[in-house]
Amino acid sequence: MFIVDLFRRTGPVVSFEIFPPKADVPVEKVYDTIEAIADLEPGYVSVTYGAGGSSRDRTVEIASRLHRVYGLNAVAHLTGMSHDVAELDAICTSLLDRGVTNILALRGDRPLEGPDVVKGYPYASELIAHIRSAFPGRFCIAAAAYPEGHVECADGEEDLDHLKEKVEAGADLLISQLFFDNERFHRFRDRLAGRAIDVPLVAGVFPVLNVRQVQRIVSLCGASLPPKFTRMMARYANHPEALAEAGVAYATEQIVDLLASGVDGIHLYTMNRPETTRRIMANIGRLRSVR
Ligand SMILES: Cc1cc2nc3c(=O)[nH]c(=O)nc-3n(C[C@H](O)[C@H](O)[C@H](O)COP(=O)(O)OP(=O)(O)OC[C@H]3O[C@@H](n4cnc5c(N)ncnc54)[C@H](O)[C@@H]3O)c2cc1C
Repeated sequence: MFIVDLFRRTGPVVSFEIFPPKADVPVEKVYDTIEAIADLEPGYVSVTYGAGGSSRDRTVEIASRLHRVYGLNAVAHLTGMSHDVAELDAICTSLLDRGVTNILALRGDRPLEGPDVVKGYPYASELIAHIRSAFPGRFCIAAAAYPEGHVECADGEEDLDHLKEKVEAGADLLISQLFFDNERFHRFRDRLAGRAIDVPLVAGVFPVLNVRQVQRIVSLCGASLPPKFTRMMARYANHPEALAEAGVAYATEQIVDLLASGVDGIHLYTMNRPETTRRIMANIGRLRSVR
């Protein structure tokens, strides 16, 4: 099914993101994660795509298995920068052949080292337009949104122009980058409403597990850290188990506030850590059904 239909039918949609294991780790590892979270009844599960890495084929395989074996709605991430059009079409066809009809269409992360190689589309809006014209009516398409602006775009209004281009090109819903300051998300939602961007906006929530991980993420996406978050990090930096517990509490508090504010959906970045996901889902159990 097209996941956008979930937003019309039910209350807030809670979904998960997983990633394919690295090439030297058996793909079965991720199936352990899926087994451990499948009964939590996520609205959908999305599978990331290594823009330059070797885990590409695994995205299709894992998304297909989510759908076929576990009966879950699967979303395959797809990056337009790293493939030519024929390759992109082959991946889309392969997804359709396996019953996967939801794509999160992205430009893709730039390589950490070396020059950019744009084989296909330099912007996600162009990938979205291409999928719409090459596969009319066959896919539900999600796109990425940045509550604090995309790191490469200094002008927030221009960034919103480009977000609107993605919706006009055919994105059915938006999934946000992670953020730790809910006020930024609330303001972003208001700004989207001001621009008449009215597709569902899903909030990306990332439960913190360790300090190094946060430093890496912040350096990549520039998420701002509110004082209560930095206090938590400083206090528990040398106590990994305590920090992970505080991370669950922090993510829970974020979600409670987001649900209370009437958010369309929550996308939990699981980091393939089912125990963390299960604890957060237990904390918000009853809240999910309130419309
Ligand atoms: C929910 C989510 C999931 C993700 N999953 C993955 C994944 O699986 N694999 C992966 O590699 N990366 C993933 N990413 C990261 C993403 O690929 C990067 O953030 C990337 O830098 C931008 O991708 P985009 O699709 O938002 O790009 P775009 O929407 O194309 O935007 C990229 C930049 O270009 C600017 N821009 C857009 N259009 C134009 C234009 N016409 N002219 C000039 N400038 C323009 C934008 O303002 C922005 O600064 C994910 C991000 C999110 C939020």
